[in-house]
Amino acid sequence: MLSRVISGKIRICGIIGDPIEHTMSPLMHNAAFEKMGVAYWYLPFRVKKEALGKAIDGMRALNIKGLNVTIPHKVTVIPFLDKLDRFAERIGAVNTVVNDDGVLTGYNTDASGFLQALLERGIEPTEKKVVILGAGGASRAISFILAERGSNLVILNRTLNKARELADRISQIFQRETEALKLDRENLARALSKADILVNATSVGMYPDIDETPLTADLLSSGLVVFDTVYNPVKTRLLVEAEAVGAKTISGLDMFIWQGALVFEKWTGLKAPVELMREEVIKVL
Ligand code: NAP
Repeated sequence: MLSRVISGKIRICGIIGDPIEHTMSPLMHNAAFEKMGVAYWYLPFRVKKEALGKAIDGMRALNIKGLNVTIPHKVTVIPFLDKLDRFAERIGAVNTVVNDDGVLTGYNTDASGFLQALLERGIEPTEKKVVILGAGGASRAISFILAERGSNLVILNRTLNKARELADRISQIFQRETEALKLDRENLARALSKADILVNATSVGMYPDIDETPLTADLLSSGLVVFDTVYNPVKTRLLVEAEAVGAKTISGLDMFIWQGALVFEKWTGLKAPVELMREEVIKVL
């Protein structure tokens, strides 16, 4: 139960998106603010596509300290900002805005949250062969940070064109051969036979469709690290089946918590209480 007093010193942070009712970020960040004793509050704001510019003007006018940005605004918010961090610029998507005395800078902590979740489990992706499923926003952030870290990528997507566009961009920027394939059984079997890490960056398996999985269990093996970006449920069918064959598994919850921790640090300048943030989210999942 939050017990903080709202005084004149409060700094406001929040999240903009549409829909926004399902977000767990207010819960996670308010618990962290309370634990660290900082005068910050985090609120959800439902912002429709056509109101995005006004919302960012409002952020400046009201001196809001920080905003997270979620679907459908991660790309379209960019022209309204003053600066982009080098990595957000490369990815072409922003999930965090920091307001420093009226200067708005965009960051992408989805990417760094993903990498931190891997490293925290002792997995260094440099020179590893990584199979990524999906070519949407999450896949884009993950593909860029892995390419920068020196991974060899194969991107499979239901819509092949989107995988090709992403792979071409990565090959061009990082001078690293990146393969794009249609997401089907034959291609999956071939790609996974040589893979070290599998990342599901599609929404397959997400609540309420928790019985779905992007691939059948017979394609999994004990030598794989399986990372599912889906975090509701915490243990997806893919992770349950990967665990059953002895593969190492990582939940999207870890990525979500780490991206939140990095945001907390940018807004407050303090080290985030990561374990508390995790506990708060797990309580509601
Ligand atoms: P998005 O931009 O809408 O992309 C969705 C991706 O999923 C596309 O590649 C899409 O393929 C694919 N897809 C959807 N339904 C499919 C199906 N039935 N079969 C095969 N492929 C399917 O969404 P996003 O923002 O990238 O999010 C993707 C997932 O990442 C979501 O589950 C989200 O919760 C998760 N995520 C997690 C975190 C975290 O912190 N853990 C952060 C961001 C996102 P097409 O291109 O063919 O449509």
